[in-house]
Amino acid sequence: MTDLEGLHSVMRGVTRLGEPLVSHTTLRVGGPAEVYAVPASEADLRAALAWAHRTARPWRVIGLGSNLLCPDAGYMGLVLSLEQACAAWRLDGNRLWAGGGVHLAPLVARTARLGLSGLEAVAGVPGTVGGALAMNAGTPKGEMADVVRWVRVLLPDGRICRWSRAEMRFGYRTSRLQEEDGIALDAELQLRHADASDLLRDLRDRAAQRRRTQPLELPNAGSIWRNPPGDYAGRLVEAAACRGIRRGDAQVSPKHGNFIVNLGRATAGDVIALMAEVRAEVERRFGVRLHAEIRWLLGQEALEALLDHPPG
Ligand SMILES: Cc1cc2nc3c(=O)[nH]c(=O)nc-3n(C[C@H](O)[C@H](O)[C@H](O)COP(=O)(O)OP(=O)(O)OC[C@H]3O[C@@H](n4cnc5c(N)ncnc54)[C@H](O)[C@@H]3O)c2cc1C
Repeated sequence: MTDLEGLHSVMRGVTRLGEPLVSHTTLRVGGPAEVYAVPASEADLRAALAWAHRTARPWRVIGLGSNLLCPDAGYMGLVLSLEQACAAWRLDGNRLWAGGGVHLAPLVARTARLGLSGLEAVAGVPGTVGGALAMNAGTPKGEMADVVRWVRVLLPDGRICRWSRAEMRFGYRTSRLQEEDGIALDAELQLRHADASDLLRDLRDRAAQRRRTQPLELPNAGSIWRNPPGDYAGRLVEAAACRGIRRGDAQVSPKHGNFIVNLGRATAGDVIALMAEVRAEVERRFGVRLHAEIRWLLGQEALEALLDHPPG
């Protein structure tokens, strides 16, 4: 039996060999995943994880890939999607229980229509509940941490824990899920009753503001850099005259300095070379070292090393 037949025999759901990751990221960059799996249920997800462990394969979980940079050479290992296993949500009064694979945007719209406030803080953030928890997604209006009561997490050894908000160690665009391997299966969120028409007006205003200020017409991954303390990465990139510069088909958006857009055939190599150039220029002019907000599928330490010594 091949390794993959072994996976089929223990896991129900979709499995694909050599699945192009380019179609699973909003920046539209990335090579093939050795194995891409969409387990049918939580039990199947655990079986897939156990299979990865048995066959000594590294694994990663992805959401909508809206904050993800994937290598051109692809990923030798298992890439997991929760879009089937953790796709349910339900409301109990003003408590929302949502699976890690649930898409955020319809949830934000639905809760606002029901007059429940809390998720408008992440209005306009593409992605899944799991991705938003891992990233502690947010805006100046607030962040996921503000509404989380607990998160149920599948650990690499197959155990399931429930981490409270404090145990999630949320910080600016970070959480314990970035320090330790674990899969956010679902979470309970505490919302507040509010006026539905006020909430909906707020969502409309903020969507219009995003359209005005962000290059939503081109593939991108949101903010590339974390804001340094007391400043904005986009402001620094623009002040360093990096707006509009290009490497291959990767371009610092002329509309927003903290966005890199894919003009057509950008590669991860182009994006990394461009990031390295921008970071060096900002550091040279202002003495501020930018750090990536975008997640590199092979880990942030590896990305930092690539930014210091870009290939080619
Ligand atoms: C146009 C645009 C605008 C954006 N605006 C904002 C904004 O205003 N604020 C903001 O915070 N972000 C913003 N983002 C970035 C992005 O949408 C968020 O970081 C989002 O939360 C990522 O969710 P995702 O499901 O796409 O995760 P992915 O990009 O797929 O993954 C991101 C990270 O989360 C991990 N992850 C995903 N799911 C799970 C899970 N279930 N369990 C454990 N780890 C998991 C992945 O392994 C990866 O490390 C924007 C992106 C775009 C394209």
